[in-house]
Amino acid sequence: MALNLVMLGPPGAGKGTQAERIAAAHGIAKISTGDILRDAVQSGSALGGAAQAVMDAGQLVSDEIMVGIVQERLARSDTAAGFVLDGFPRTVPQAAALDRLMAGRDPLVALEIAVGEDQLLRRLLARRVCDACGATPAGTTDETCRRCGGRLVHRSDDEESVIRERFAVYLRDTSPLVDYYRARPTFRSIDGTRSVEDVAGEIETAIASMVAGTSTADRT
Ligand code: AMP
Repeated sequence: MALNLVMLGPPGAGKGTQAERIAAAHGIAKISTGDILRDAVQSGSALGGAAQAVMDAGQLVSDEIMVGIVQERLARSDTAAGFVLDGFPRTVPQAAALDRLMAGRDPLVALEIAVGEDQLLRRLLARRVCDACGATPAGTTDETCRRCGGRLVHRSDDEESVIRERFAVYLRDTSPLVDYYRARPTFRSIDGTRSVEDVAGEIETAIASMVAGTSTADRT
């Protein structure tokens, strides 16, 4: 069975960090819509030009553009064994579109990583991201990425006024997704306030229990 995972949670909850670990552990594709948009901005493409101002204001790129990006990405063969989506869906219409894109594929597994706002703000203000490989090493004061030697920089939208706007957008547009998925047997909420290792352990336990649950359901 393919592991088709959606990571939910506010900015700074650790979705990207955990998505990377899950993708490596399960040999599945990691799809980060934020990374796709940042790459587009860096390459100077038309998409990047349209997305940059929206991202720097902490707002959301349109559902139409985002669904198009994800549809195209999911059509690639490396998603056949499964995928982990980081940063998508972010609105109920995006979630409904994703359900349509899942026709004929194994069911989505949705994980919420829950962290309170004070801790998120501290994390985001301290966050550094590698400008070459996108790694976000936790709690580092290094200026160089240990993985690839790239430069660790501050994300332009990790600035307090933009972070506050992103929280507001999350509350208004994205947090309803928790209710959208909560009723499904393939939804779990994880306490994201603990260490990266502890959160990763809880996620693996949750994935194992959900995968066992869906395969039991398939047999009955
Ligand atoms: P992230 O790296 O996931 O925090 O995304 C950074 C920014 O990219 C967000 O603040 C949005 O402006 C934009 N973005 C990423 N994913 C989406 C999405 N699914 N829908 C709309 N905007 C998005």
